[in-house]
Amino acid sequence: MNLPPQIRVLERGWLSSNNVLVHDSAGCTLIDSGYHAHAAQTLLLLQHALGGKPLARLINTHCHSDHMGGNAAVQRAYGCRTSIPVGEAPAIAAWDDATLMLGYTGQSAERFSYDDTIAAGDRLQLGGLEWEALAAPGHDMHALMFYSGAARILISGDALWENGFGLIFQELFGQTGGFSDTRATLETISRLDIATVIPGHGAPFGSVGRSLQTAFQRLDAYERDPAKLARHALKVMLSFSLMIQGRLALAGLPQFLAERPVYGEVNRRFLHLPEAELREYLVRDLERAGALKLVDGWMVAA
Ligand SMILES: [Zn+2]
Repeated sequence: MNLPPQIRVLERGWLSSNNVLVHDSAGCTLIDSGYHAHAAQTLLLLQHALGGKPLARLINTHCHSDHMGGNAAVQRAYGCRTSIPVGEAPAIAAWDDATLMLGYTGQSAERFSYDDTIAAGDRLQLGGLEWEALAAPGHDMHALMFYSGAARILISGDALWENGFGLIFQELFGQTGGFSDTRATLETISRLDIATVIPGHGAPFGSVGRSLQTAFQRLDAYERDPAKLARHALKVMLSFSLMIQGRLALAGLPQFLAERPVYGEVNRRFLHLPEAELREYLVRDLERAGALKLVDGWMVAA
């Protein structure tokens, strides 16, 4: 994908979100810091990509654990100014575990502080380009995207991926509005002149029209049948945990799910399955999708 030379995307597996490094004579900026467990790797990638230049600023598209999990480590290494979406500020300032969904989903992140906030409509000068912060509610109600009209680049976070978008948590938690917010965000994107999307996960892509079509179709399907979103969400979360831990004992799955309230709540709200049936469904479906293999009583990340 053709990106201007001052923009570097540090991409690894799906688990840790992309880090976008924007070089600038006035100081480099990093957008998103990846997953907490990968902080050491993030620092190495960053050090290499910076080539000895200082990091002036760290910005988050939103404050989910896989986007801000490395913030504290990056701050320690570079002492950089840190800017987060204004709507995320109360939860980050208070390190509110419930709002950050850490314990709830079995995630971890190291506490960090921020220096200032960014609101939708704000304009940022990064890498010799002007970027507008755009509201991207849906997956995260307070998320922002960053758009450069001159470079025709959208840094989309989890609002649009090449084949979908991030889970719509608000709907999973029984609050309405998540579907309509997601639709509004996709419509915002569809009105932009975009050559390249730099997503939060996966490689940058240029086929924006096709990706939007996929996203709208998926959203339509979820709205028709929210249980579809629920099933998808639980499988994504379990496979995310498997990727972190490498493997989980099948016999330990009841306790694993019980310790993460999201599974029971989403099941009660949408799926109404007896617990054993839910476990069987998750394991079988992830196995069929190639996300895990069953080996000697272990679920192994594939
Ligand atoms: Zn996210």
